[in-house]
Amino acid sequence: MALPLAPKGPLDTMSFSDLGLSQKVLDAVTATGYTEPTPIQAQAIPEILARRDVLGIAQTGTGKTAAFTLPMMTLLEQGRARARMPRTLILEPTRELAAQVEESFNKYSVGQRLDVALLIGGVSFGDQDVKITRGVDVLIATPGRLLDHFERGKLLLTGIEILVIDEADRMLDMGFIPDIERICKLVPFTRQTLFFSATMPPEIQRLTETFLHNPVRIEVARQSTTASTITQRLVATHGHASAKRETLRRLIRDAEELKNGIIFCNRKSDVHIVYKSLSKHGFNVAALHGDMDQRSRMAALEAFRNGTTQLLVASDVAARGLDIPEVSHVFNYDAPHHAEDYVHRIGRTGRAGRKGTAYTIVSESDAKVLGAIEHLIKSKIEFDGPDLANLPPDDGERRPERGRGRERGERSEKGRGRGREPRRSREPEIVVMADDQPDEVEARAPRPERTRPERTERPERAERPEREERRERPRREDRRPRDRDDDGPTPQGLGDHVPSFMLRSVKLPPKTLEPDEAEAAHETEE
Ligand code: ADP
Ligand code: MG
Repeated sequence: MALPLAPKGPLDTMSFSDLGLSQKVLDAVTATGYTEPTPIQAQAIPEILARRDVLGIAQTGTGKTAAFTLPMMTLLEQGRARARMPRTLILEPTRELAAQVEESFNKYSVGQRLDVALLIGGVSFGDQDVKITRGVDVLIATPGRLLDHFERGKLLLTGIEILVIDEADRMLDMGFIPDIERICKLVPFTRQTLFFSATMPPEIQRLTETFLHNPVRIEVARQSTTASTITQRLVATHGHASAKRETLRRLIRDAEELKNGIIFCNRKSDVHIVYKSLSKHGFNVAALHGDMDQRSRMAALEAFRNGTTQLLVASDVAARGLDIPEVSHVFNYDAPHHAEDYVHRIGRTGRAGRKGTAYTIVSESDAKVLGAIEHLIKSKIEFDGPDLANLPPDDGERRPERGRGRERGERSEKGRGRGREPRRSREPEIVVMADDQPDEVEARAPRPERTRPERTERPERAERPEREERRERPRREDRRPRDRDDDGPTPQGLGDHVPSFMLRSVKLPPKTLEPDEAEAAHETEE
């Protein structure tokens, strides 16, 4: 079913006061300093005020949060919150993003009497319980923690008038979809539903139609369009870790007008290794990934936000939605496995009309994902420096990372360094186990509540495959199963728990190490 496109008005001349927002909300907007609505705001706000369901697609950093919060606040002026029955619900894929949206909400709702509760994992239930019990107008939540509260009997979702699913394609992807389906059954059928994202793969869009009723589709730019303010470049490198780290250091040192930057790795173990390596080389850096405790996650993000640290090495937990206005650079230490993640990662820079630069480090093995990214964004990304075919020879043969492909003693494909005994990989032990896990996977604390016997509100559960089984079945053939961030399901296999004996470092005889190898071996020593 094709969704109707929103009629396009003379948006250039739109002002906030033309959109139907209440005076209180307009005053708050003025206080925020916004002078005119962004295109997604100009198009979505009147539709939301008219109680339509909306599927809103607009580039990263173009004000989608205000596009749904401002009209919500106007609609909430009618009626009052009741104990344990929130009136609106905003779902976010990560804790940090949920916390950020709460902050935005508080900023936009100054001078209004709206009660907001933030329900995210990794922090205690106590304060959250108190707020819910008192009654809130707005719940901002990650799905896992929301369901935990529900299962504890502390929360009723039957009063929800508006349901917002931000980063909607991510939330309907594997990992989250069982919880989203469940939450959608717990909220009234007659609610208004709003979906927002910068990306919307066609197969996920088909799914949105089961959750939206007669929606208006607002597409400010074709989905997956990158923000026009971001300069994108590829940087060719050899595929082994020391070459990649060296390339990264060079990029950071040579970057023009580098104020600060986020460095994305595909694996949590690499986040740790790259973080340690950069620290050792004197960079001012913090790390953020889903295996860190919540306090450390928040502290790392806050330090980066307020400029105490200049660089943040992160997994895809930081890829979606985070709005740190002045991020000047994004560095993809790895090209992401999912092309949509590229759009979101680089979208951490170039926000709200500012300029930004995104470098993606690529080696030969990235050809396929690079093709998928360029296909998705419908443009070629230029190389900064030599492309892969013209990369100068490596300074010596090294075994491929993580022992994939070749066994010890085999020759490299190109036969460089012939006659030499291949060296041991310099990214040792950690990676072997942990690296098979996709990286935005975040350990979820054991949640006994979720394994209690089935409740009556989910009678269909018996016929449905278990959560883990559903997760394992990719929706698209080219997709690796992707796990969720925050309160995700039990990981497969060893998952996020790597027994400590497997993480122990192996000391290599010094004679087999070159200087940079010695550094890497040192990095992982306990
Ligand atoms: P998105 O969700 O589209 O990625 P956000 O909602 O996080 O974007 O907003 C990105 C930035 O733009 C925020 O810093 C926000 O304060 C700013 N912003 C939003 N609306 C406006 C506006 N109308 N004028 C100026 N800045 C805006
Ligand atoms: Mg957003």
